[in-house]
Amino acid sequence: MPGTTAAQSPAADRIADVVVVGAGPAGSAAAWWLRQAGHDVVVLEKADFPREKVCGDGLTPRGVKALQDMGVDTSPAAGWIRHKGLRVHGGGEITEVNWPHLQRWPDYSLVLRRSELDARLAAHAEAAGARVHTGVTVTEPLLDEAGRVVGVHAQAGPDREPQVWRAPLVVSAEGLSGRLAKSLGVVRREDRPLGIAVRRYVSSRRSVDDYLDISFDLTPAGPSRDSMPGYGWIFGMGDGTANVGFGLLDTRRGDGSKRNEVLRQWLATFPPEDQLDEEHAVTPLRGAGLPMALNRGPAYTRGLLLAGDAAGTVNPFNGEGISYAMETGRMAAETAVDALARPEGPARESVLRRYPERLRADYGRHHRLGMGFLALLARPDVVRFATAHGLKRPALVGAAMRLMGNLTDGRDGDAVDRAVAALTRLVPAV
Ligand SMILES: Cc1cc2nc3c(=O)[nH]c(=O)nc-3n(C[C@H](O)[C@H](O)[C@H](O)COP(=O)(O)OP(=O)(O)OC[C@H]3O[C@@H](n4cnc5c(N)ncnc54)[C@H](O)[C@@H]3O)c2cc1C
Repeated sequence: MPGTTAAQSPAADRIADVVVVGAGPAGSAAAWWLRQAGHDVVVLEKADFPREKVCGDGLTPRGVKALQDMGVDTSPAAGWIRHKGLRVHGGGEITEVNWPHLQRWPDYSLVLRRSELDARLAAHAEAAGARVHTGVTVTEPLLDEAGRVVGVHAQAGPDREPQVWRAPLVVSAEGLSGRLAKSLGVVRREDRPLGIAVRRYVSSRRSVDDYLDISFDLTPAGPSRDSMPGYGWIFGMGDGTANVGFGLLDTRRGDGSKRNEVLRQWLATFPPEDQLDEEHAVTPLRGAGLPMALNRGPAYTRGLLLAGDAAGTVNPFNGEGISYAMETGRMAAETAVDALARPEGPARESVLRRYPERLRADYGRHHRLGMGFLALLARPDVVRFATAHGLKRPALVGAAMRLMGNLTDGRDGDAVDRAVAALTRLVPAV
């Protein structure tokens, strides 16, 4: 398993070019990319691997690409389970759509339990030369006299040995908690969605399946018709289990307290032989937040770069966050490499200050459309009408999946891609 315990790091070694906090997909990607540029990078992770992470365990083709870019072997022989596309449910209709064949993106998705994925990615960063220390909880930033981040304070091991790690740049890849950002006054933006999702594993015959099941039509029927802007999923894990869950995509627009019941009701619409119900659960139902549409920012302040959930990079269309964690881990690393190539002072600072703008340029328009989609999703009548009619037209579903999954070749692509690119260009970035 990756990671040496912090007790094995003498105080003199607690200095690096970049300290990365958190070894989820964002942190391990940041570390791997920093190593490609030859930088000395330390990763501090509070847990020991393998550790559980509450997740749907699904990687869209976007996530596959981020893995491939880091040279990760995504073959079935390496234990990855591939899927051809999505099986979309709604309005009493079901349709299967394959992932599109595009130049920029692979045409398959993957699942792997996060306990395994995150351990693999941390090991991948370590194999590239990153110093990964597990069992180290970062408690606060280390500040110089001017209030700039020059490292972190941490507690290591069961005895909580106090430690100080120094670096001219720190990447916060801590996930939703964003403790370092918060302590510097970078708080969550109330005008951006925060989702919440629950999942459990069930022992099910749907474990082996070429398609990932999803439904956006989950608002409970009945007189109250409470709005439930979210989606349910069944992802076959290929090991006898399936990951089943429900994500309420915008807690500002729905009452999350009913999410367990919504999941139960949706799963009850499948045949009992599928064994998706609580009786066949092999783990308890667990939940966590989904920070979306860059809901914490600015993503750079005073020597601290935010990546992944710490910056709120989850896609508001579908709750996907692993791919964006890896992508922004890479962007944070590239920014750090560029910055460290310049002398300390204004030249370096101006590179770092451009990082939030890069995130906004890459994702802002898509996030704007996603937030509009969430507003529609909060209207059960619209969802039911759209799914009942739309799902009869697979070409339309395929186009919607490209838009929602942010999977196109842009202006270089086919007619669908060009239409999606035109639509995206029409809206301003959030
Ligand atoms: C129920 C659910 C289902 C989901 N399903 C999917 C899905 O199917 N596909 C998808 O793409 N996304 C999914 N997501 C979103 C996805 O899980 C996240 O977007 C993703 O994990 C973000 O990665 P990250 O590296 O930014 O943060 P994390 O994965 O949260 O990693 C952060 C790491 O930092 C460590 N850490 C935290 N604080 C400290 C500290 N103070 N000191 C040291 N270490 C620290 C943590 O232990 C952790 O290892 C789901 C989320 C939920 C809640």
